[in-house]
Amino acid sequence: MKRRDILKAGVVAGVAGALSAQAQGAQANQPGILTRARNLIFFAYDGMGWEDYAIAQYYSRRVLGKPLALERFLASGVSGLQNTNSLTSFVTESSAAGNAWSTGVKTVNGGLAIHIDGRKLTPIFALAKQQGKAVGLVSTATITHATPASFVVSNPDRNAEEEIAQQYLDFGAEVYLGGGQRFFDPAVRRDKKDMYAEFAARGYAVAKTPAELEAANASKLLGVFSSSHVPYEVDRRFQNVNVPSLAAMTRKALPILAGKREGFVLQIEAARVDHANHLNDAAATLWDILAADEALEAAMNFVDQNPDTLLIIGSDHVCGAPALYGAGSVYRAGSAGIDLLRNEKGSIEFMLARLGNQPTVESVTELYRTVKGIALTPEQAQAVVAAITQRVYLPDAVVRGIQPANTLAWVMRQTDAAQVNRPNIGWNSGQHTAGPTLFGVYGRGVGAARIGLVDNTYNFTLMTRALGIRFQNPVMSEQEALEVLRSRAELPWNHPDDALALA
Ligand code: ZN
Ligand code: MG
Ligand code: ZN
Repeated sequence: MKRRDILKAGVVAGVAGALSAQAQGAQANQPGILTRARNLIFFAYDGMGWEDYAIAQYYSRRVLGKPLALERFLASGVSGLQNTNSLTSFVTESSAAGNAWSTGVKTVNGGLAIHIDGRKLTPIFALAKQQGKAVGLVSTATITHATPASFVVSNPDRNAEEEIAQQYLDFGAEVYLGGGQRFFDPAVRRDKKDMYAEFAARGYAVAKTPAELEAANASKLLGVFSSSHVPYEVDRRFQNVNVPSLAAMTRKALPILAGKREGFVLQIEAARVDHANHLNDAAATLWDILAADEALEAAMNFVDQNPDTLLIIGSDHVCGAPALYGAGSVYRAGSAGIDLLRNEKGSIEFMLARLGNQPTVESVTELYRTVKGIALTPEQAQAVVAAITQRVYLPDAVVRGIQPANTLAWVMRQTDAAQVNRPNIGWNSGQHTAGPTLFGVYGRGVGAARIGLVDNTYNFTLMTRALGIRFQNPVMSEQEALEVLRSRAELPWNHPDDALALA
């Protein structure tokens, strides 16, 4: 064996050894990969698949003239794939996926750091807090949304966001930045509680605008910049929506957290890649990935300057399964969609708000011309009017989609494969799908290692090892979970195990 091969074998053994060492409860430090990290950054893409990546990568190279930071990450670091199935479904949603990352065990879709029988799980950032680490959450969703929440709190209902805002106050992370004013505002909360005042009373600077974010000067920071989710990057950039970018929030969070003596843990989430894919909105998806890339670059720069930081990236599941499909003779027009995306200057969400309740064929046609750079036929414009005013959706729009948005997407689909005049991007549905996703690690000591295909729960192993934490959450079997669901009559489909168990 050549020396280089011995080294390679050693590195691979280090990875395999790490897994078995975890099982045996052995010391966590293995050579070759993931020496202890003082700081941890978990960078989540919600609902991003590999075709999303490809579209953004080609757009970035062709139109912006540079490769994605994500491409650089994947080329230089340790990357692979992660399986995303939840405990009882091959198609996960964001809380079960977040739980797999944050607790290391599979759960049923729908709850935060909790099993379906009510057993609470301890998420990774709660463990890190016990070590004295500072904690930060940054997201373009409501900050109380499933992915960030699954890293810090336990709740049987991912949608209990008013309650989760209270749980955040009790948890006491140093940084919360995202959307979701309606869960903090006393005028909107059902209990009329002024969460802004509550956070301020505990020493948080409270920011609601980009200017306030910039000016905030305290060791703890709550920033909520929109009533619900932070508007899409394509609208922020081209329609002058006044919210901070994911990169701006990231750049604000890092120095606050880095000031803590014991180090920090931070989750950054590009949350709305998922939402844009649900709506089958190619431009919104693209620009949110490009915005995420600026935040990722900031995180990578921080790691380069602070090598005792480990950066993990991942996507929690695929959504909509979009693809840039071949167009033209022998696909020679396959790149046309990338060029046409350049003409899109707003999201379908933005268009729906603009159209209001009483759109006309004329207002729809004009809006598609100015926002999407597309000339609709009168029939297509009428389909949009019917979707909004009569809830008549294009039947083939998507399988179980989100309406009327999916009809707005469907009318601008490519119809002539030989004559590309629309982005040649198609979707499977408006729903999450089952495929494996992006997974990668960046930081000192990981550059020579390999990971390959892992389960999404492996992220918890990586994080606990890096932080020197030894902890195992209780494991629930699929069968046990199915029993609970069955007892609640929450098994509407014919699960193959049912026949066996009920027989
Ligand atoms: Zn998700
Ligand atoms: Mg999310
Ligand atoms: Zn989703």
